[in-house]
Amino acid sequence: MKNKKIHIIGAGLAGPLMATYLAKRGYLVEMYERRSDMRKVSQSAGRSINLALSVRGIQALREVGLYDKIKPITIPMKGRMIHDLDGKTHIQPYGQHDKEVIYSVSRAELNMGLMTLAEETKNVKIFFNHKVESVDLTKNILDFGKKQTHFGTVIGCDGSTSPLREAIIEKSNANFVKKPLGHSYKELVIPPSDSNDFLIEPNALHIWPRGDFMLIALPNMDKTFTCTLFLPTTGEISFETIYESSTIIDLFQNYFPDALELMSTLVEDFQSNPIGNLASVYCKPWHYKGKALLVGDAAHAVVPFFGQGMNASFQDCSVLNNFIEKHNGNWEKTFEEFSSSHVENGHAIADMAIENYIEMRDSVNDEFYRKRRKLELELERQFPDCFIPRYSMVSFHQIPYADVYCRGQIQLDLMNKYLIENLTKQQLHSNITEKLVPLK
Ligand SMILES: Cc1cc2nc3c(=O)[nH]c(=O)nc-3n(C[C@H](O)[C@H](O)[C@H](O)COP(=O)(O)OP(=O)(O)OC[C@H]3O[C@@H](n4cnc5c(N)ncnc54)[C@H](O)[C@@H]3O)c2cc1C
Repeated sequence: MKNKKIHIIGAGLAGPLMATYLAKRGYLVEMYERRSDMRKVSQSAGRSINLALSVRGIQALREVGLYDKIKPITIPMKGRMIHDLDGKTHIQPYGQHDKEVIYSVSRAELNMGLMTLAEETKNVKIFFNHKVESVDLTKNILDFGKKQTHFGTVIGCDGSTSPLREAIIEKSNANFVKKPLGHSYKELVIPPSDSNDFLIEPNALHIWPRGDFMLIALPNMDKTFTCTLFLPTTGEISFETIYESSTIIDLFQNYFPDALELMSTLVEDFQSNPIGNLASVYCKPWHYKGKALLVGDAAHAVVPFFGQGMNASFQDCSVLNNFIEKHNGNWEKTFEEFSSSHVENGHAIADMAIENYIEMRDSVNDEFYRKRRKLELELERQFPDCFIPRYSMVSFHQIPYADVYCRGQIQLDLMNKYLIENLTKQQLHSNITEKLVPLK
């Protein structure tokens, strides 16, 4: 088994992590990346400047020994800081205690750290400026246009537009759905203060929820905040109608006046930064025999509202690593079991991420939502083994996403019955112990 070569497409977030797991098992990895080496050539970080890292991602980074190096460049975020229209702010903590926080981290720093870690194993070679145009799963060829290479086993970490996924769909007649969200995003910035400090609370994820759209902001190590404006792609208030300086200023004056005061380069940033599209990808299976497998966004691109795309992708690598151990070089069994046991988790986080958009942009400011949130935290304190709020199950636990989805539905149903219908507190409690199997 030693020295067997594996090909990986994509040196984004999942690719170098997967390569490191494989290299540590003695595999030789050739990784092909369409972009140039971001450690040498400065370039835009890609799809977001910073990301929220939580337990699933942290666990994988720990397993490969990178977490201690990354931790000093992360900023803990304790909760959502809600910005009301009148400028008032209030924090909604993510969890019950200090340890239940998520971390803002620079995508570029993390990506560069992962690439260097992979190369340091000496078993990984990254070929930059190598765009895979197509994959032939009959002849086992990666086609780069001007040249080709043969592979035995290939793993696609090539993101949401994966060319390997196209080949797998064609070959295995896979079920595939790409669901556009209908909303897009644009990144903006809040600069540091004149005394080079954060202009707003750094240990929070800021949200300006405005019903059909929202603005969020995550802190960076250089005391800036990366803001992301999510708007409908088309329609009255949308990226289709808002692009002239007057419409940009109007939008911010009407809906985000306190943010406008902080964003000195708003119009310039708005007009020069690209609009990003958002979609969820559902694909089943994720593999073709023992030849090809999809990991990360290639398998399950999700919209960013649960802050889980990268975390789920890192968890994929960790789960796959366990199956590689179990099946010891039998790729067909490894890929088959990984795909059949994990696909539903990918679908579940895709669904939960869409649902969380509605929660973030709309419900967080709703009185009923706050009442239910208070109740779920109270129930977690009373039944810590079986009642855990869905956000916490996703962000602070490793419970498979599909199980989180089911448990979350049961919990929501019980809370609604208690708050809206006539379920008594005693009935609520006995239902919890009957319907929710203890987790620990
Ligand atoms: C606005 C936004 C905010 C987000 N925030 C969060 C967050 O807070 N927390 C979180 O967990 N996730 C977040 N995500 C999701 C996260 O970015 C992705 O889930 C994560 O990047 C997936 O990693 P990946 O390696 O699968 O794909 P990518 O990181 O996209 O990497 C794919 C790589 O493959 C390369 N590639 C693509 N096609 C080819 C080809 N044909 N040939 C060669 N190379 C190719 C690309 O250049 C890229 O380097 C966010 C996403 C967006 C859009």
